[in-house]
This record gives sequence, C-alpha cells and structure tokens, in this order.
Amino acid sequence: MKILIVEDEQHIADGLQFNLEAEGFETELAADGKLALDILSANGSRFDAIVLDVMLPDVDGFTVAKRLRETENFTPILMLTARNRPEDVLHGFESGADDYLPKPFELQIFMARLNGLLRRREWFKKETKSPNGNEIFEINNRLIDFSNLELRSETETVHLTLMEAKLLRYLIENAGTAVSRKTILEEVWDLNEETDTRAIDNFIVRLRRYLEDAPETPKILQTVRGVGYRFVIDN
Ligand code: CA
Repeated sequence: MKILIVEDEQHIADGLQFNLEAEGFETELAADGKLALDILSANGSRFDAIVLDVMLPDVDGFTVAKRLRETENFTPILMLTARNRPEDVLHGFESGADDYLPKPFELQIFMARLNGLLRRREWFKKETKSPNGNEIFEINNRLIDFSNLELRSETETVHLTLMEAKLLRYLIENAGTAVSRKTILEEVWDLNEETDTRAIDNFIVRLRRYLEDAPETPKILQTVRGVGYRFVIDN
C-alpha cells in the first residue's frame, strides 16, 4: 500500500512517514499543494490513500482535494484540519475528503483513521469479487453499483465518493425510517462531537441530484421536518 503525505511541516511529515513505513506502507512526500497536484496528475492512481494537510503554502488542501475530484481521481483522502474549526470539517467534506483528523493528533489515532479509510475502500471493492456478482441496487431507473462506486442512469454514469456511497447505503438500509442528522453523523461519519450538520445537507443535495427526477421536489430522499431524512423506496 502506498500513501501520499501532503504536509509542509517537516516534523509532522517526518513523524507520519516514519510511522507509516514502520507499519509496512510505502510513502511519498509532497511539501506543498502544487507539488502534490503535480505528483498526482502524473500518475494519480498509484496511491491507496492521501493524507492531506489543509494549511499548505500556495495551493491549500481544500483546493487539492477539489481539483483531484474534478479530474476523476477518487483516491481516499484523510484531511488534517486545524483544531476547533468546524467550518474546516464542512469545507473538507465538500471538497471531497473522505475523513478528517484535527491537529494535533496522536499517531495511534491517525493510524486507526487511515486504516479505517483503507478498510472501507477494500470493503466496497471486495464485493466486486463476490460469487453472487456485483451488489447493485435499482431505484428510479438508476442503478447504484456499490462495488464500483457508480451510479448509472440511461444518460450518465456518476462516480460516487466513499462517503456518498456510505451515506447512500446507510439510507437504503434504513429505508422507510426517518433518520436524524445527528444519527447520520455518528453512523456514517463516525463523528460524535458537535459538528455542523450542514455537512450532511450538502451531501443530500448531491444525492438528490443523482437520484431524483426533480431534485427540488424529492420523492425518494425526503426531508422530514424537525427530524432529518427518510429514504423512500416505493413511490
Ligand atoms: Ca500545514
């Protein structure tokens, strides 16, 4: 497994690199956002995950994540955010990060988060190889292919990020039940602290755009006033 570390603070970068290599990972280091984009555009698919600091000289971590996703690079991103800045978390998820870790952090927690991210990816991937074929869910003339993280309609194929797929899977598993934003944050994002729940709303807007014929009057991914959301399978 190969990890790209994008971090300008030398001592943090060294610490991460040392620990990752001790755990058997290969690593590559980029000390700024521009270099990271250069490395990734040259050959973006060779990394299994990217550890991405937000505060970087020239091009910041949000921009790096956004550019990557725009160029259809969906390598899982663990974003390192400044502490006590919930807006960074929101912004991070919106830019395409899959998970985040506030600085400063314990290396043990870092490894756990990174391994969680890699496991999640393996979990989605492995189902491709299951003897029963791919795990495909059909709704509203669209196919959600969880194995390949794709949503296909007659006219387009949309790539789902890990977080979009995880949220969608959670909503489908709980179809018919109203689930609160707080529960979603805990179950899907593993966030227990008081994070701004708007992060979820933005994901819901995106999922509606994929699933609904008229996203502004949703029939599948309904808002339940005062509670949260309900996924409705039978329309
Ligand atoms: Ca930094």
